[in-house]
Amino acid sequence: MIDITKIRKDFPILNREVNGKPLVYFDNAATSQTPQQVIDVIVDYYSSYNANIHRGVHALSQEATDKYEQARITIQKHFNIAKSHEVIFTSGTTHSINMVANGFGAFLSAGDEIIVSALEHHSNIVPWQMLCERTGAVLKVIPMNLEGELVIDTYKELLSNKTKLVFCNHVSNALGTVNPVEIIIKEAHKVGAAVLIDGAQAAPHIKADMQALDVDFYTVSAHKVCGPTGAGMLYGKEEWLKKLPPYQGGGEMIAEVTFEKTTYANLPHKFEAGTPNICGGIAFAAALDYMNAIGFKDIATYEEELLEYATEKLLTIDGLKIYGTSTNKTAVISFNIEGLHPYDIGSILDKLGIAVRTGHHCAQPIMDFYKIPGTVRASFSFYNTKEEIDVMVAGVERARNMLM
Ligand code: PMP
Repeated sequence: MIDITKIRKDFPILNREVNGKPLVYFDNAATSQTPQQVIDVIVDYYSSYNANIHRGVHALSQEATDKYEQARITIQKHFNIAKSHEVIFTSGTTHSINMVANGFGAFLSAGDEIIVSALEHHSNIVPWQMLCERTGAVLKVIPMNLEGELVIDTYKELLSNKTKLVFCNHVSNALGTVNPVEIIIKEAHKVGAAVLIDGAQAAPHIKADMQALDVDFYTVSAHKVCGPTGAGMLYGKEEWLKKLPPYQGGGEMIAEVTFEKTTYANLPHKFEAGTPNICGGIAFAAALDYMNAIGFKDIATYEEELLEYATEKLLTIDGLKIYGTSTNKTAVISFNIEGLHPYDIGSILDKLGIAVRTGHHCAQPIMDFYKIPGTVRASFSFYNTKEEIDVMVAGVERARNMLM
């Protein structure tokens, strides 16, 4: 069971005020807050062993290298990844996706097909469009229904021997829908297509098992799982990472360089050109350790309680509509009030110290589907409380009365 009093003490930011009111932070899907345990790891890195890795004979460089490689193993274990060199450190999900989208051009010809889902974040649409422009491949879209779920029967019809790649998020950032990635992966493999799952929104709530999923690529951003910004991972099956051309050239990613020819380093270094975010990688692993100590099962149960409570309370407000009503969703509520602009509601909530996100949430096609400019999105984490939800619901009611 979650010990909420103890947990909240771990997050110094939760003590601050915004506009003279205690902060209520419900923008966790954009970025999560950082516990003192992870802040301490960051401070410790810069206070005691800041050095460049993989290249120095001196003690500090060795210490930093050991901690960085240990972090890779922590991440490997967390996601049940078979080999540690299948974990590529990146700056986050966007970087990870671009790495695959860039290299995959080598395997595509004009007329090949790539399938994306209607529930994607722009970072999982634009790189594929760019890839299609470069290669002449064709982008197909798995449609969604009014509940905000993917239509899997249509997906099965879209698959053919022309399909080379399927991309889908594990959890939708705009609506919170948990997509049936197991089925998506299995069906894609039947036609020989590779699958990339964007785990940016799943990682804070679901401990995904790479070997059980049998997924080809999976992406995570550290800042969504209580870690720092500018760090993340690309998981890739060894067979794919060996074939995929490197993304960036530079130091660290080579075996030998002459002006005639360069040979690339082994995995994972082939994809890790230049000095990486060393501290970020170490803090990413510390954040996973922190969340594992609480336990993903308990986190899921508690967040489910928050979701049910908030859904019930918000629906008592006149004219309030929730978008994304799948029974399989994470603790995200996207809503609007009839006749009001989401931005106006968000601005009034901000005056009351409540942080929510408003807009299209980098998922414009979803907003177009519902024919709305955007939504107000409240996204909860295991350090939020029902009392905070009461404050938000009262704030939304107040906004409604002020704006109507
Ligand atoms: N995909 C999804 C589903 C996301 O929610 C986000 C972040 N909002 C991203 C990709 C991009 O992640 P990042 O900005 O950390 O690269």
